[in-house]
Amino acid sequence: MATISVKSISFSTYSSYINCSEAFWLAKIVKAKPIGVASNLVFGSSIHAACQAYFDYWRRFKQALPKETLYRIFRAHYYRTPENDILYSEKSGQKELFTMAEGLLSVLVEAPMPEEVVAVEADKITDLGDFRLIGRADLVTRDKGVLTIWDIKTARARYGWEEINRAQSQLSTYALAHEEPVNLGIKLLLKQKTPSVEDIPIEHDKSCGESVVEEMRKCITGIEAGIHFKVKSFRCIQCGYRHICKP
Ligand code: SF4
Repeated sequence: MATISVKSISFSTYSSYINCSEAFWLAKIVKAKPIGVASNLVFGSSIHAACQAYFDYWRRFKQALPKETLYRIFRAHYYRTPENDILYSEKSGQKELFTMAEGLLSVLVEAPMPEEVVAVEADKITDLGDFRLIGRADLVTRDKGVLTIWDIKTARARYGWEEINRAQSQLSTYALAHEEPVNLGIKLLLKQKTPSVEDIPIEHDKSCGESVVEEMRKCITGIEAGIHFKVKSFRCIQCGYRHICKP
């Protein structure tokens, strides 16, 4: 097999390797074709596309896009994935997901906007000597002179300790690329009976970002050494590589 050399890594690459290195291997190294894609991933990325358009329009024109436009963006993005490829859970089909999207986007447009949207989907590359750390912040805002880096997430339930910790790891690595003081936060779009959007402040802990960087180094060593194995978990249910992996 050809030698694998990892020169740069993002938080999402790192987390997909630690979630299941087998799925990572099949996707990124073997480039195997997945069968099916989890509906929550299609939903999440489509909501993300609508949010991105919303905040970017505000950044450029200081005006809010109407929710009807956002909903059209959501649907256009969702339809990019052929319906037959989407793996739905027993709880929600397409109709329920579209209704949920409409509700969430209605709440989003009613929420207060920041004084300034500094950047949307902003890439920052930090050269750490042995590798480059790629950070992509969903949203960067400035209020009362203070910069905040946001990650936009969708979830069925409010965040608990585990999700907050994961968010802190992710955002703290993004913060490493900023020299000026920054706040960190999650915009959580809650897929509940009554949809809501919560702003959750995340504690900025430099040492947390640094320890993720150390773990990334170990991941790079693992990837370059060809180490991959099955991590059976709830993720297997909607994994596109089940037909190859046979967990
Ligand atoms: S089915 Fe499960 S163990 Fe197999 S690759 Fe997918 S997530 Fe990993």
